[in-house]
Amino acid sequence: MSEDKGCRTRMIDMFEPAYLETRQLLLNEFIVKFPSDESCWSSLVHEFAACDKLRCRWCGADKVEVQQDSRTLSCNDCKKKSSMTAGTFFHGIKKVRAWFFAIWIVENEFYVSSKWFAQAIGISQSSALHILKSTLYLIEENSGIFESVGFGLREFRLFFRKRSFLTPAMVKPSCELQEGADESSNHDNYNNSADSSWVDVTASEVDSVRDAVISALKEGSRSLDEIRNTIKCSSSDVLAAITDLELDGEISAIAGNRFQLCNKVKAGLTSLRDEVLRKESSDSKSIFDAIALFCRLSFGIARGVSRKYLSLYLGFANSLVAKDVFSSFKTMCIESSYIGSKRLRAYASSAVLPIRLSQPSLFDFIDEVSHAF
Ligand SMILES: [Zn+2]
Repeated sequence: MSEDKGCRTRMIDMFEPAYLETRQLLLNEFIVKFPSDESCWSSLVHEFAACDKLRCRWCGADKVEVQQDSRTLSCNDCKKKSSMTAGTFFHGIKKVRAWFFAIWIVENEFYVSSKWFAQAIGISQSSALHILKSTLYLIEENSGIFESVGFGLREFRLFFRKRSFLTPAMVKPSCELQEGADESSNHDNYNNSADSSWVDVTASEVDSVRDAVISALKEGSRSLDEIRNTIKCSSSDVLAAITDLELDGEISAIAGNRFQLCNKVKAGLTSLRDEVLRKESSDSKSIFDAIALFCRLSFGIARGVSRKYLSLYLGFANSLVAKDVFSSFKTMCIESSYIGSKRLRAYASSAVLPIRLSQPSLFDFIDEVSHAF
């Protein structure tokens, strides 16, 4: 990608119709630059050397030789062998190319779904989600203190679409906040749940039919038969998905036995905008950029987020608005300690989330984000 893209262009790239084209371009460029695992490992050796991180893990000496596998260091002082990546962000990784691709995407100030990422690079979706979340975690951790306005997690309830292991059974993710009266104690509970699976419940069969129904309705209202013909699934699967979507308030039945999409995105945006205005900040308008990007990331690209990890996506939107961590992201990874699934499991959105103040509105995203779905 060209280096001198303006802030406005970079943001537009995240939205339709530029989004699909930019995504493909990024993949193509990545394949040319890093065609194999070997190319990634040898690049990593150079990056470690540039950061003065090519050192013996036992005695700290920099007189080391890199073995042929580009992963093992052999020390000339203590004669011991050690792993180049031990204890770093890259500790124990196997699919180095997938990690490189995630870094590539971040460095280009872009984001993709775990589903697309998994297909593009040939790994499982749960691995893809883990890799993408690790990058978001690192970005949030390094974003530092910035001028912001705090929003209660409650203001984001319309965005809770995915279940996490903390979502009570038989309860919609969006109802999570109504369950526990005391938010701070919920937060503690999250942190104590490190033994459960860290993965959000990802696209199941049902989710894929749901997604197909939503896509079919994007063009306008349709009858049940028209939906079934478009998505080519069994009647029972389609009916189950439609019932589910109706209960979730995503679609509604209208006259003539037809169904249409409910505009949850607009409702979510309107609710957040009202909250911004209610705070009567003179910088209200500048917050919209971060919110619009967050909506695009969570609704449009990640196709819903869980309450537990929502702030990772908000943190990324905040950083995109400020462009504060991206150009040096690979260096940041090399200098970071190991994150791993244990730290990700212990992560939870806090009760009050910061939305970053940017330069007063580059332009008004609200209309664009509304049209993006
Ligand atoms: Zn040594």
